[in-house]
Amino acid sequence: MLCQPAIRSLTVLAPAKLNLFLRIVRRRDDGFHELETVMTAINLFDTLRFDSCDSSEIQLRVIMAGTRNSLTSPSQPIPTGLDNLVGRAAQLIRQYAGVSHGVQITLTKRIPAAAGMGGGSSDAAATLSGLNRLWNLSLSRAELLDLAAQLGSDIGFFLGGGSTAVCRGRGEIVEPLSHSAGLHFVVARPATGLSTPQVFKHCRPDDQGPDLESFVESMKQSNSSRLVRLLHNGLQGPAESLNHEVQELRERFCSLPVLGHQMSGSGTSYFGICASARHAQTVAARLRASGVPWVHIARSCP
Ligand code: ATP
Repeated sequence: MLCQPAIRSLTVLAPAKLNLFLRIVRRRDDGFHELETVMTAINLFDTLRFDSCDSSEIQLRVIMAGTRNSLTSPSQPIPTGLDNLVGRAAQLIRQYAGVSHGVQITLTKRIPAAAGMGGGSSDAAATLSGLNRLWNLSLSRAELLDLAAQLGSDIGFFLGGGSTAVCRGRGEIVEPLSHSAGLHFVVARPATGLSTPQVFKHCRPDDQGPDLESFVESMKQSNSSRLVRLLHNGLQGPAESLNHEVQELRERFCSLPVLGHQMSGSGTSYFGICASARHAQTVAARLRASGVPWVHIARSCP
């Protein structure tokens, strides 16, 4: 019999994502939108620490990292109780596995909320995989993906093996995309965020613009000059009409020497693709000097 040693404590990094391509295929009868999107994880992380505890309680402590950060903006409060996606994921996996263990979870937030960077989804995925290990549940990947789909559309991406993927359906059908295009980004977020359901309410299927296959091909070939010409986000128009700060960011990026730029997900974060880390630093300095409240330099995760 193989006995695994019980783990008392575990730390998991939860990355942010950027949508390099996002097309609204159609509105479904259930109210959701069918999407085609390419997401890539970047090296900006929330941290989740899981400590076993003797009680059967799930306790959550949320720490906001950084002070220059717009994370703490009162317009985008992050729930600190068990209604946080971390708490919901913990309750769901515990109920599914039929265990009564407790846990003390410390979530350190660095990914801005309501920014289209998938922070909440990534935290939920980290919770499912972290507790699967901490509690030695041995749930399969398929079981975790099923739990993920019950909590939200993007969570499956963060459970996936690859750091870049093509996601379809509501976003929950994940196909890893292997590529060697190490991308450098400068990511900016205005002071205010946008709610994902609100942006989707204002969107329409977009059958114009570049197609997914061409975009995927440019990624596979690491053809960055082609890739930047094929960037696309069908949610950007609706987001700009709901939040003028997104439009202002676009105008700012238009005057910057980046290879290409667009909004991520449902916004309000906006990214530019740069030729190197040094190039990204130069662009970031200009954005900061012009008063953009949150600017971050990032790379696509390998
Ligand atoms: P996506 O790109 O997946 O659509 P997003 O990046 O726009 O998501 P999130 O930061 O994931 O948005 O969170 C959206 C909302 O979810 C927040 O405004 C907040 O109220 C709630 N929320 C619940 N749990 C979390 C969490 N752990 N981190 C951030 N937000 C959370």
